[in-house]
Amino acid sequence: MGKDSRRLYGRALSVLAGGVNSSVRAEPSPYPFFVEKGDGGEIVDVDGNRYTDYVMGYGPLLLGHDLPERVAGAVQSEVARGPMYGAPTEVEVELAEFVAEHVGSVETLRFVNSGTEATVSAVRLARGVTGRDKVVVMQGGYHGAQESTLVEGDAESPEPSTKGVPSSFARETLPVPFNDEGTVERVFEEHGDEIACVLVEPVLGNNGVVHPVEGYHETLRSLCDEHGALLVFDEVITGFRVGGLGCAQSVVGVEPDLTTFGKIVGGGFPVGAIGGSAELVESFTPSGDVFQAGTFSGHPVTMSAGLETLRYAKDEDVYSHVNSLADELRAGMTDVLEDYAPEYTVVGVDSVFKTVFTRETPESLEGACVSGCEQRADCPRYGTCPKDAGDIDDAETERWKRLYWNGMLDEGVFLTPNGFESQFVCYAHDDEDIDETVAAYERVVSSV
Ligand SMILES: *Cc1c(COP(=O)(O)O)cnc(C)c1O
Repeated sequence: MGKDSRRLYGRALSVLAGGVNSSVRAEPSPYPFFVEKGDGGEIVDVDGNRYTDYVMGYGPLLLGHDLPERVAGAVQSEVARGPMYGAPTEVEVELAEFVAEHVGSVETLRFVNSGTEATVSAVRLARGVTGRDKVVVMQGGYHGAQESTLVEGDAESPEPSTKGVPSSFARETLPVPFNDEGTVERVFEEHGDEIACVLVEPVLGNNGVVHPVEGYHETLRSLCDEHGALLVFDEVITGFRVGGLGCAQSVVGVEPDLTTFGKIVGGGFPVGAIGGSAELVESFTPSGDVFQAGTFSGHPVTMSAGLETLRYAKDEDVYSHVNSLADELRAGMTDVLEDYAPEYTVVGVDSVFKTVFTRETPESLEGACVSGCEQRADCPRYGTCPKDAGDIDDAETERWKRLYWNGMLDEGVFLTPNGFESQFVCYAHDDEDIDETVAAYERVVSSV
């Protein structure tokens, strides 16, 4: 960080709330660096410092910062025709066709402008078609900045997790611990006929990266079926990241009724989407009676960026590149921890990674997952690896924020500043980046 970032932050503090336009961006201490530009797998700040970037915009950037020529070309030709129209365009249909073709549970979509808007609309749709009000969410799950999900506590006493959300709204939300079948079964016993949907990330991606335990999503699926509730997978972060073009649902092996998308599906531009069976999604206006609309929805520039990004990912085998690099990275990190801090758990899946600073050392590491916790019941770490948000909260999240994050930044590696959010490998990263990152990781972990 340097004087130009500092000066810009000073100006920002006068005219932007907290100096930023999204809360997490203010987390770097004492002030965030301001970005001059991206460059492949790196980011360059206004003072000319270069960092290997694993934040990747908090998830949307699968390819890294340089758009391949065909993606850039599609975006530029869309811009050249004019920004948007308020009338439909072909590219919206093409992106919808692409998603429907690759994601098993999706037949029909509605595009919106953010992940938040997607989960807002999905919850409204679930409430509209079931005629019920209650929504089950996971503690530590993230579904954007919206009233129905900014709720904490448990199903007995849900509370708004921020000022500005009425308690009466929070009462319609039932938070349960992820991976705990008993609790969600009890909640359905008590409230089964009031529950519109269960809203869940297939893999918790905003809270340390927590894998589902064997059978958890099957339990959610059968509870929803039994009680006439909808199962909604929030794939805003996992969509087109985990499980490749089939998304995380193709890996966990359970079909949701509705899926929310965001991030990667817009190729780096603002986006969200709700997908599912035609019957369900047609319940949105104008074909159905659940109101949904948006001036910018299906924005042609976003649609073309998303479409060309996904086509490129398919044609160029992007997923095997990023997944195998992240595998190497997680394996390297796991090796380092064996020597310096065997109590910590490396987590992640496909191109996602994170270290959770868990506090308990397993009795043996013999036969443990080698490239990130997969939540295998026969892994010696199974008893100590994180299963839910409580386990993540109990980890040394201050160590991440105050020592580890700064240490990695000094090494030229940009990670999310808090101990909760995921890191991502992108298509522009290569073996050398991974080797350097593991070496930096060793220096930092061994010193803090
Ligand atoms: C990022 C995210 C959201 C919110 O998306 P925005 O585009 O930031 O509104 C919702 N759900 C999940 C799982 C996310 O990761």
